[in-house]
Amino acid sequence: MSTPTPKPKRPRGRARLLEGRCIACGARCESSCPVTCISMNDAGEPVITAENCIGCAKCVKVCPAQAIEMAFTPEELKILEQLAAAGAAAPAEEEDPEAAALAKLQAQYRGVWVFIEQTEGEAAKVSWELLGKGRELADKLGVELCALVIGHQVEPLCRQAFRYGATRAYLLDHPLYRTYRTQPYLEACCHLITQYKPEVILMGATGMGRDLAGAVATRVGTGLTADCTGLDIDDKRNLMQTRPAFGGNIMATIMCDRFRPQMATVRPHVMRMPEPLANASGAIIRSDFCVPEEGIVVKVLEILKDGDSTHQIDIGGAEFIISGGRGMMGPENFGILKELADELGGVVGASRSAVDAGWMPHERQVGQTGKTVRPKIYIACGISGAIQHLVGMQDSDLIIAINRDKEAPIFEVAHYGIVGDLFRVVPLLTQKIRDLKARGRKP
Ligand SMILES: Cc1cc2nc3c(=O)[nH]c(=O)nc-3n(C[C@H](O)[C@H](O)[C@H](O)COP(=O)(O)OP(=O)(O)OC[C@H]3O[C@@H](n4cnc5c(N)ncnc54)[C@H](O)[C@@H]3O)c2cc1C
Ligand code: SF4
Ligand code: SF4
Repeated sequence: MSTPTPKPKRPRGRARLLEGRCIACGARCESSCPVTCISMNDAGEPVITAENCIGCAKCVKVCPAQAIEMAFTPEELKILEQLAAAGAAAPAEEEDPEAAALAKLQAQYRGVWVFIEQTEGEAAKVSWELLGKGRELADKLGVELCALVIGHQVEPLCRQAFRYGATRAYLLDHPLYRTYRTQPYLEACCHLITQYKPEVILMGATGMGRDLAGAVATRVGTGLTADCTGLDIDDKRNLMQTRPAFGGNIMATIMCDRFRPQMATVRPHVMRMPEPLANASGAIIRSDFCVPEEGIVVKVLEILKDGDSTHQIDIGGAEFIISGGRGMMGPENFGILKELADELGGVVGASRSAVDAGWMPHERQVGQTGKTVRPKIYIACGISGAIQHLVGMQDSDLIIAINRDKEAPIFEVAHYGIVGDLFRVVPLLTQKIRDLKARGRKP
């Protein structure tokens, strides 16, 4: 009895650009390729790395100019002819090469990284907040939580990072990195990413973090979700990145399931600050990677401090915030909020309506286009509770709302609601606190 000859596997071929056809449509082929084997040249035409092509033909399908075709070797053509003669269809059970390539790509990337933003050796608090969230993500993924520390004489930051949950720190310590400049930081990050392949990278949505994250994501060819308000992991190891969308009217959960690493930025105070661990330690992986100073276009000549910062109030870090909205009726009425804030040792914040009306400066604005705050007590006075305001304060430990409209949405997030006229309620509260203090009691 003779054994049946196994059916030959259907060849998929490799993508090939047809000369003179490309109309430089804006790199549709490049973004369709699941294994990133297409890059664009200066003329906006694709350069296909044929040996990495898995023959999925996605680029062929998306090209509006029929400029790409699948090319087959003579042997492959022969097999195709044989299959055609036998009337064979593509076997359904054949492994999906795209899924296989994706799984292979994902398996190469492991670990959660947090970029430790620093200025003159002092870390931005948001970096520790991100380590707190990063710890949760790393535990769900079963991987290490790593700090990425770049600067000059910044090794103490690695040890600080261990106290906030990291178990490994990648350290690039060199005078070149003393002051932040996009180019050397970008090169440094990309060097380490290529070498160690993290699956998640988190950065603060600060001036530096936004600049660096965008540059890195572009260079390594992956997605980036800015200003996330929630991060989680799904059952396929994808990072679920939640952020407000469409003007804050909906919360969108964004995934970057075809590319690695997955990158997200998060604004300060959005994630809870973790408790520092007492005797934490970890491994420091040093790298001496450097780009020559001559090749860096930007030179730092002098660092000028931002105006007279002593009078600027950082509502982001305040423990008590008394915010006023359109219900305050005018700038002169914010004085009653200031009195209450002074009694509590807090600061005055505002809704966007109050800021747009010119009653309060922009740096006091709480919300999606203002600051995200997480005080111990947030008192909202004459604020309706639009979603764009809520995303900036809903994680406060205790929320008290004063509004004369009992249907106002602010009451849905408030722990205590006072339905009434703020011009009566606020002075009464202030007086009550003064009385308690006069009697030697804590408010
Ligand atoms: C893209 C985008 C981004 C935005 N970003 C922000 C942001 O960062 N921050 C932000 O705050 N908003 C933001 N907004 C605006 C937001 O949608 C709301 O318009 C705004 O928050 C409303 O401000 P408000 O609550 O002060 O005013 P209103 O909605 O007019 O509410 C005033 C409230 O005061 C109450 N009131 C009036 N008089 C009294 C009184 N005497 N005593 C008690 N209560 C009284 C009223 O009952 C009412 O509920 C954004 C909007 C968009 C489209
Ligand atoms: S056929 Fe698929 S894998 Fe090959 S270049 Fe086109 S999109 Fe990329
Ligand atoms: S999709 Fe087609 S037209 Fe567009 S860049 Fe690629 S090859 Fe050129």
